Amino acid sequence: MELFIGHKLVKREDGYTVVLYLDQELTEFAKDFDGIGNKERRDLERGIRDYIKEKLPNIKVKSVNLMLGSLLVASLSFANIEIARGAEVNQPQIQNLRTYRVKSGDTLAKISEKFGTTISKLKAINGLSGNLIYIGQELKLPQLQEGTHIVQAGDTLSKLARKYNLSVEKLKRVNGLAGDKIYIGQALTIPNQGNLSTIDLPDGVFRVGDRGKEVKSIQVALNNLGYSLVEDGVYGPTTKRIVTDFQRQYDALKVDGIYGPKTKEYLAEALLTDHTILADPSDTLALVNKGNSLPSNYIPANLVVPNVPFPFPEFHEKKLMREDAARALEKLFAKAKEDGIELYATSGYRSYDRQKAIFTSKSMQYGLERANQFSAKPGESEHQTGLAMDVTSPKVDFRLTQSFGETREGKWLKENAPKFGFIIRYPQGKEDITGYQYEPWHLRYVGNNHISYEIASNGATLEEYLERV
Ligand SMILES: [Zn+2]
Repeated sequence: MELFIGHKLVKREDGYTVVLYLDQELTEFAKDFDGIGNKERRDLERGIRDYIKEKLPNIKVKSVNLMLGSLLVASLSFANIEIARGAEVNQPQIQNLRTYRVKSGDTLAKISEKFGTTISKLKAINGLSGNLIYIGQELKLPQLQEGTHIVQAGDTLSKLARKYNLSVEKLKRVNGLAGDKIYIGQALTIPNQGNLSTIDLPDGVFRVGDRGKEVKSIQVALNNLGYSLVEDGVYGPTTKRIVTDFQRQYDALKVDGIYGPKTKEYLAEALLTDHTILADPSDTLALVNKGNSLPSNYIPANLVVPNVPFPFPEFHEKKLMREDAARALEKLFAKAKEDGIELYATSGYRSYDRQKAIFTSKSMQYGLERANQFSAKPGESEHQTGLAMDVTSPKVDFRLTQSFGETREGKWLKENAPKFGFIIRYPQGKEDITGYQYEPWHLRYVGNNHISYEIASNGATLEEYLERV
């Protein structure tokens, strides 16, 4: 996870000031800096410490200036940040073997391996619909077998219930407790969790005529993907038909209706991603949203830097766009200049991995659900298509902010973008359809100006347009 994209050192007589540059994508963060909660502040301080420890281990740091582009977001004393760490370390650690705090570099696969469980189990207990986790997230771990818990100082029934993923009522019932009181040293029985909805896909090859609990697991998995079939453990014609339909979605799979190792692999992957993966991601009309995602390995061909102004001079991946879109953007910007409108491009192509880093850091600050209102999960970002560009102006300090829509530049953009094949992808009042807040700055190239005109003149979204054609 990268909070910072770089740093600069400023020498002072008693040490250094480190100027840390926040990722430009964290504008929301900068806007809300004074309002961030204690937890977010601690996470941020931890991020600063980790960065300095890794990149500047031998520097005597006195203070830290956080920058977003040329904007000073905050100035912090490094001594205070170090004190904050001390307090964290000295906090008594409650030994809690059944939960785990996600660290940088963790994946569900790594965590499940480490604790001898499966990804599907972890997802089921933690109510995760996708495979995204974020740093600092507390994951419940499955109770492996019926066991005993010796009550420690600080334990309460509700804490234990949470820890073992049980209800307080069940804990009381199993242990014959009348009230809520427990005492230190008391041995409590922790019952087995037999009700976890886990899907363990079987190894081996299964086909029409096979039956048994393995076949049932396959049926359960398919139903989880949105198919509908009877989970009777019999590999009949319906199961075959649905396996065939599933295989048809992937080029790499042989379409034979037989479940084997390769189909298992793709099924497992599909269970982790609760949406459709686009078959033709390079289509200029590719619909990328919360229900339709790009393959994680998709990188558009012909990415170029459009010849338009950017607020930062150095090369960055986010300057890139697909060539067809870049040429159209150049024309749009040329027209803007002609009309005396000062526009800057700030963020175009974004790789799957960078979107993942951005989304992880936003989730860390806002929680997964809120973060997803303004930030896309990896694979669900239009920026990965190379057809999108975020546009801003000096009037709003180069920020990506809704007030841009009220400026002369924002209004000009809305009116003129369709003439060059672009639409404002997330219009006001269409949040329910697009799944995202109003973004007057986000341009999407749709291939030609006939289509963009048709979408814009109807005040529609790409979703609505594709529904009609
Ligand atoms: Zn955007």
